[in-house]
Amino acid sequence: MAGNDSVVVIGLGRFGRALALELVDEETEVLGIDENPEVVQMLARSLTHVVRADSTKEEVLRQLAVHEFDRAVVAIGTDLEASILTASLLISFGIRDVWAKAISEAHGRILSQLGVHHVVYPEHDMGQRVAHLVRGRMMDYIEFEDDFAMVKTTPPASVVGKRLGDSGVRTRHGVTVVAIKRPGQDFTYATADTVVEADDTIIAAGRTRATEHFSELQ
Ligand code: ADP
Repeated sequence: MAGNDSVVVIGLGRFGRALALELVDEETEVLGIDENPEVVQMLARSLTHVVRADSTKEEVLRQLAVHEFDRAVVAIGTDLEASILTASLLISFGIRDVWAKAISEAHGRILSQLGVHHVVYPEHDMGQRVAHLVRGRMMDYIEFEDDFAMVKTTPPASVVGKRLGDSGVRTRHGVTVVAIKRPGQDFTYATADTVVEADDTIIAAGRTRATEHFSELQ
């Protein structure tokens, strides 16, 4: 089953499970591996294949043809040794894209040193994201690299009732309104002629600090 589009997910705890189910939802074939029989049983009908196995054993992974996959995710967090041993095997197989979850900075550093291509810190990143949501009127927030972010928020009074082109939102607040949603309607692209109403939802993009400021304005 190691087709171009398939992904092996090792460790089906809360993170690995959510990830694997989302991939299946998007019609990606998933081989799930976990050493806990209860976890395997629970997911038996939801994933393409689920196998009970210890991922720290090279021969076990080879038997499952894990070395033939192009993409693999190590979603083991708590058991540091298992995470590191598994990641190291996947790298030695030459898998093109290996993702691994880290539960601390030191853990992430070791995974990177092993050659893991994408190290993710789900709890740390989610904590930061929620902090942004808690602070202002933000309904959603995503930060990209290079200090760039997008926020979903309600419009501050200074932009309501004016054409976006006349509102000075870029010069005054340093953000660009990229999309707008009227109550009960879908999001559409915003243009200079768009007039924002108080009960609209908008998506604004800009420097992280500017987007934060913008969502804190009344
Ligand atoms: P989460 O916080 O996302 O729930 P955990 O680290 O608690 O993540 O869960 C990791 C999962 O990985 C557990 O279901 C556990 O059974 C599984 N696991 C741990 N070590 C191994 C291993 N050596 N081989 C296969 N699965 C493992």
